[in-house]
Amino acid sequence: MGPASLRSVYPGPGGFDPKEVKREFPIFANNPDLVFLDSAASAQKPRSVIDGTAEYYRTDYANVHRGVYRLSARSTERYEEARDKVRRFLNASDRREIVFVRNTTEAINLVAQSWGAAFLREGDEVVISELEHHSNIVPWQLLRDRIGIKLVVAPIDATGGLDLAAFETLLSRRTRLVAVTHMANATGALVPVERVVALAHRHGAKVLLDGSQAAPRLPVDVQALGCDFYAFTGHKVYGPTGIGVLYGRFELLSAMPPYQGGGEMILHVSFDKTEYQEPPHRFEAGTPDIAGAIGLGIALDFIEELGRENIREHEEALTGYGVDRLAQIRGLRLLGAGQRRLGILSFDLEGVHPHDVSQVLDQHHVAVRAGHHCAQPLMEQLGLSGTTRASLGVYNDEADIDRLAEALKAAREMFLR
Ligand SMILES: *Cc1c(COP(=O)(O)O)cnc(C)c1O
Repeated sequence: MGPASLRSVYPGPGGFDPKEVKREFPIFANNPDLVFLDSAASAQKPRSVIDGTAEYYRTDYANVHRGVYRLSARSTERYEEARDKVRRFLNASDRREIVFVRNTTEAINLVAQSWGAAFLREGDEVVISELEHHSNIVPWQLLRDRIGIKLVVAPIDATGGLDLAAFETLLSRRTRLVAVTHMANATGALVPVERVVALAHRHGAKVLLDGSQAAPRLPVDVQALGCDFYAFTGHKVYGPTGIGVLYGRFELLSAMPPYQGGGEMILHVSFDKTEYQEPPHRFEAGTPDIAGAIGLGIALDFIEELGRENIREHEEALTGYGVDRLAQIRGLRLLGAGQRRLGILSFDLEGVHPHDVSQVLDQHHVAVRAGHHCAQPLMEQLGLSGTTRASLGVYNDEADIDRLAEALKAAREMFLR
């Protein structure tokens, strides 16, 4: 499980061998025929995360930030060490900028309900895009219903990427926040977030980036990006479910009221008045998912050991191979993903419903997603009820894409004889 053994498996500069990486994921030994192409919904877990989490329960488990006894101190140390790993993973400048939450969904709801409710007024505008996951739409609609903000939607262009020119025209003095995805989960479109941040800041707006799909695939540097908030979810970066991260600039987090009240987030409580902790603890009410945070830290170690540039190159190469391979299948139309696509192949097979496609693929042990991918407004915009989506992870290789292509040909023949 230790880093030393991992390093010998994954040589550095030449990239890694996905076949070797696959051996680190017990799910494949237990499901020998499985071709797993649904990492965009949730990634599989490496042995180090599974065993490391169990090991924590066996050796260091106790509640955090409370006990004066040694075991609790050790548990607290491991929980806070996980926070340091997240800080490094995002290159945040201060560990207090890292808040543990349940997932991306909770991170965005926290910003909407805390920052949004405290600092936005009726008529203020929040700009999102047509590429968003429901998690980055519905929290803003709830806030709209609560305080009367205006939700503005930036369109995609004909290629399926964010229409930057149109986006720019939507920005004004009324724009207080731009909340967009770093990478679209339904199509794999990479959003030029550096440009988005620069344009938004020029208009005095804050920027929240949804990094759910980018965090597992790209190096992310929140200082270089200059964003104000960044959210990602543990289960898509090869970590456990139930844990996620909100990064927020310290100055912003310090000014924000608590999101939920309870234990862990207070300094002093009386029935008249309660004093709150500083960030991040102010936003971590109640006993946190301690084991989840530690497991997430181990998952980030795993990613760093593979090398984030190596992962990006692996996904780029495999995405390119997939695009070529799918282009050979008659009647298959790949959804546009703008200037840059990464790790996701979302498509329509003429005359066959996505659920039927995925069922036939499942008979060939190829696991893909079918449906609207929690992006119903985008699907409507594209004139589709849904698509079939194959998404990549560090354990996939060309043979998996070949199996996908063969199964798709079988599906086509079955339905279009
Ligand atoms: C998966 C995903 C989410 C939601 O993640 P949860 O873990 O379900 O909260 C949000 N945005 C994008 C782009 C996603 O891919």
